[in-house]
Amino acid sequence: MSKPYADREIWFLTGSQDLYGEETLRQVAEQSQEVARLLDASPDVPATVVWKPVLKDADAIRRAMLDANADDRVLGVVTWMHTFSPAKMWIAGLDQLRKPLLHLHTQANVELPWDTIDFDFMNLNQAAHGDREYAYVATRLGVARTTVVGHVTNPAVTARVGSWVRGAAGWAATHELRLVRFGDNMRNVAVTEGDKTEAELRFGVSVNTWGVNDLVRAVDEVSEADVDALVAEYEDLYDVAPELRKDGERHASLRYAARQEIALETFLASVGAKAFTTNFEDLGDLRQLPGLAVQRLMAKGYGFGAEGDWKTAVLVRAAKVMGAGLPGGASLMEDYTYDLTPGSEKILGAHMLEVCPSLTTSTPRVEIHPLGIGGKEDPVRMVFDADPGVGVVVSLADMRDRFRLTANVVDVVAPSAPLPHLPVARAVWEPRPDFPTSAEAWLTAGGAHHTVLSTAAGIDAFEVFADIARTELLVIDESTTRRGFRDQVRWNQVYYRLAQGL
Ligand code: MN
Repeated sequence: MSKPYADREIWFLTGSQDLYGEETLRQVAEQSQEVARLLDASPDVPATVVWKPVLKDADAIRRAMLDANADDRVLGVVTWMHTFSPAKMWIAGLDQLRKPLLHLHTQANVELPWDTIDFDFMNLNQAAHGDREYAYVATRLGVARTTVVGHVTNPAVTARVGSWVRGAAGWAATHELRLVRFGDNMRNVAVTEGDKTEAELRFGVSVNTWGVNDLVRAVDEVSEADVDALVAEYEDLYDVAPELRKDGERHASLRYAARQEIALETFLASVGAKAFTTNFEDLGDLRQLPGLAVQRLMAKGYGFGAEGDWKTAVLVRAAKVMGAGLPGGASLMEDYTYDLTPGSEKILGAHMLEVCPSLTTSTPRVEIHPLGIGGKEDPVRMVFDADPGVGVVVSLADMRDRFRLTANVVDVVAPSAPLPHLPVARAVWEPRPDFPTSAEAWLTAGGAHHTVLSTAAGIDAFEVFADIARTELLVIDESTTRRGFRDQVRWNQVYYRLAQGL
């Protein structure tokens, strides 16, 4: 299997010093190359791991960090102090580093050679204290980092390294992200607002608005031949309702959906955007709210937020990148309605139209139904149930002085019964640790009603993303308690204000 980010690099930096002599340093080089090789060979690690020569002094360390900053292929840097590497040497380099950092606390051997160990062995294998010296300086400098402990042959270790690479890839993706808003936010809605300037500083994303009539023009310019080809693809890939098929009486509506998809993709490509928003209140001369088109673009990896919700569009794009190559998918989601049966409560999540089919391995049905709001023609949409499995719902809210990510680990389940009258794609889930605790915690956090539901990238990748972005993340999972969560929200309120500096 090729790596999802094969063209992106993780630099493996090994710390040592000149004190040990040539023979020891040769062994350090060999053994660190082996550690890097094992990481690179792990199917858990989705980018190319590149070993760099052992670092023995402050100038080389600083230069390595500056080079990592300057190289766009580099997603992040792994550091390991195989021997003792006096950490004042790391101050200048760590202070300059602008890429995600993983501190891998490992050693070359698994078992201690109890019956042969001598002081040469001790001299070579001293990460147990070399990494402590290094971590002291990293902590003292306040360097955001992920620390992973254990031998690289341990699957728990490579899994966490993999999550770190994915989080770093998400961070890179938001820094490379241009987001197109067609129109503004839905009128009077609070939580979809936010500071776009702060978002560009914090996440690197460029968020700007275009008039919806720019899109209308692009829709008009799509050729009939391109529409023919895409409609044929729909009929090939999906279970298309008879009335929408080639000879069906509402085929024109499917053709218009195809026209919207082509126009949207062409427009986004023309401005280099990988995420976008729409607003049903501001559709200009569009004949339908884009439904099928948005679902298809999300499946192609675009971020999307409805009702002008650019913050959720950023999260959907990040989740798409972080989950690359994993089973499952990511979609805009909205907590819609509940089954409150005590002990088996469930959340039904959906949206007006726009749920990404990456959440299902079944064949979606393509249907047309009226939409109660917006006053436009009936829109075409894919309808399906999300596959059961573990997922995470994540929201991004602007708390005025900072952004807050709120995440809930959930178990997506099959609907309790078929939903023959529900004309939209949906996901049904049971939140951890249980419904009342989860919902109370979410409301206490002020988490949004729009989220990304990710069944590919998990909570670990989002945690890394939040750490790197130095953004608050409140996690609701199997360990959450009402009181503990409420206290965490209060303490975070103080911490994140102080952490911004006075
Ligand atoms: Mn909505």
